Amino acid sequence: MDFQNRVGSKHRGGGVASYSESNVDRRERLRKLAMETIDITKDPYFMKNHLGSYECKLCLTLHTSEGSYLAHTQGKKHQTNLARRAAKEARENNIIQPTIGPAKPVVVPRRNVIKIGRPGYRITKVRDPVTHQLGFLFQVQYPEIEQDVKPRHRFMGAYEQKIELPNNAYQYLVIAADPYESIAFKIQSAKVDETPGRFWTYWDQDSKQFSLQFFFRNERNVMFEGMGPSVPLTAPPSATV
Ligand SMILES: [Zn+2]
Repeated sequence: MDFQNRVGSKHRGGGVASYSESNVDRRERLRKLAMETIDITKDPYFMKNHLGSYECKLCLTLHTSEGSYLAHTQGKKHQTNLARRAAKEARENNIIQPTIGPAKPVVVPRRNVIKIGRPGYRITKVRDPVTHQLGFLFQVQYPEIEQDVKPRHRFMGAYEQKIELPNNAYQYLVIAADPYESIAFKIQSAKVDETPGRFWTYWDQDSKQFSLQFFFRNERNVMFEGMGPSVPLTAPPSATV
């Protein structure tokens, strides 16, 4: 499990400290974290049984306290089962399973709208000549867009999306405009530069083209190729470079 981004890890000096942490300390820290951030009443898998103890309906595990249950929800077993469940539900809902690989469009289902298919799109890798930041320009064509609809976009975390097995190395940029199917682009999970002017969207009413451009923050190792654990970020064949 990756603790780098978790609350409380800041003062611990990263991965080295976690080795010296005992299992008890670790569970206690996870329990506190979960208590602060999770509303247990909204958890569909949390159940108090007639013996007064607690069960995880997903993993079929038994817990002596709410804290123990919450610690369990942060653990590998529960997270794995959540991912499996999400993948199963996606299959059952006949959602198109994209092949694994970055920057592929993924279909995101929505209710009560008759969809007319995926929009055409083009992805261009961009690089700021001054700051050398890398980024993407997405251009999506919506010739049949509904009147008064403006395309919307949203970044989604790996665990927020329910289409693929979650992988923290990626995030998803979802672009939606009725009556088209929403599409998502799988991109590396590096931080996006949200400084005004660095991130922009533009909806061209006349050409019916939605453009969105952003740069990744110039932190560590944001690269288009050879990044991270053996998964280079490449655009699909339709992209221009
Ligand atoms: Zn569980």
